[in-house]
Formats: sequence, structure tokens, C-alpha cells
Amino acid sequence: MTKLWGDLHVHTIASGHGYSTVWENALIARAKGLRILGIADHSPSMPGGPSFMYFEAKGHFPSQIEGVRLYFGVEVDIVDKSGKLDLDDHILRRLDYAIVSFHPQVFRGGSREENTDTLLRALENPWVDIIAHPGNPRFPLDYKKVVGEAVARGKILEINNSSFSVSRKGSKENCMRIAQEVMEQGGWVIVSSDAHFCQEVGEFTEALKMLQEVNFSVERILNASSVTLERFLERLIQKRREG
Ligand SMILES: [Zn+2]
Ligand SMILES: [Zn+2]
Repeated sequence: MTKLWGDLHVHTIASGHGYSTVWENALIARAKGLRILGIADHSPSMPGGPSFMYFEAKGHFPSQIEGVRLYFGVEVDIVDKSGKLDLDDHILRRLDYAIVSFHPQVFRGGSREENTDTLLRALENPWVDIIAHPGNPRFPLDYKKVVGEAVARGKILEINNSSFSVSRKGSKENCMRIAQEVMEQGGWVIVSSDAHFCQEVGEFTEALKMLQEVNFSVERILNASSVTLERFLERLIQKRREG
């Protein structure tokens, strides 16, 4: 099975429904041979989520633990139809990266067309880098349009391992279509665990199986190469420095 070098979608107890700390997640990441760990807790509007202060205090966040390089991002919610995000730009900009997502606890969503419009507006934000679980059937999307826009704007589509095992039942078919669109239109996917407990960190089995089923090319999986993943993260940090 394809080796992946980093996991950028991992939650901690700060999310309010996560069960591990940064430290615990990092130790499991190391034990599983990951070089890079990205903490992406939920944004404030998620029930039980952290306040904006959690993100503002980024200066305290460690850059590495036991040889695992750490990045501090967010899984930021879309809060309304206009694609408005749950954290202000000045905070998003100071984080290492942002994963944008829809959750029914925060935004009800609408038709396929409406959700697509909403997401495309959110993608206009330069501090959004990755689209979380785009295959979620609870928020149907026009995959052709979304992938096209992601490619045009250099955003990454996530294939979320938890969507095949823990949550968001019915995601697989949609994720297969997203993978096929990426093969046709170009762009990248990133495979993430969406761990809410440390032992889930680096769990990618179901997502990789699905990608194999559609003969997805490994070169288009961002975290299948440590060089590509590191370059991506460097580019984001550079963008934030210049922005
Ligand atoms: Zn969550
Ligand atoms: Zn998540």
C-alpha cells in the first residue's frame, strides 16, 4: 500500500469532541512513521469548539515533537450561504493552513447548486487551502465545477478516511467521482485521517483502497511524497508571509 508521509487533518480535545492531546497525536504519528502532523481543530461555531483565542495563541504551539514536524491549522466552517468563514482573515492568515468544511451543526446547506455556489465563494478566500470531505452526501456538490475551481485556484481536495469508516456514510461513490475528476482535470488530493482519537492518526487504509479501485495515480496524492508535501506547506507559509 502507498506510504503517506503526513496527516494534516487531526483533531485534539480542543475541538470539544476530540479525545487526545497534541502530544499524544504526535507520538502516534511518530510510531506510524509520519514525518508531518497537522492539527486542524474545529472553528468556534462548532458546538464545543475552541474560541478564536485558541488560534490566536499559535506562538505557544510546538514546531516539532520527538522528530515529527508540527503544523497548526484549522478546520474552518462555512457559516452561511455567502460562503462566509467562521474565523476572520487576520486569524486564518496567521495559521499554517486552513481546511474548509460544511457541517450540519453549523450550516444547513441547500441544493446541489446552492452548496456548490457557497463552496466556490469560500474558495475565493486566499487563506483556504484544502476542502474537507467534499464527498459528504449531506452536502451534495457539482464535483466537476468544484474540482475545476480547485485546480484553477490551487486548492487541494481531501479524501477523508473517516468518511469510509466512522462518519458521513455514502461518501464513497462521491469520492470516486471526485478522484476521477482530478484525474481528468488535474490538481491534487490529500488523504487525511480526520482523527478524533490519537490511535486514528495516520489511518488511511479505506481511502487508499478506494483510490486504488479507480486506478488513481499516486503522483496526484499530495502526501504520498514527503517532498511534495513539504513544498506545499512551504508555499503556504511563503504566501502568508507575503500576503
Ligand atoms: Zn469533528
Ligand atoms: Zn475534522
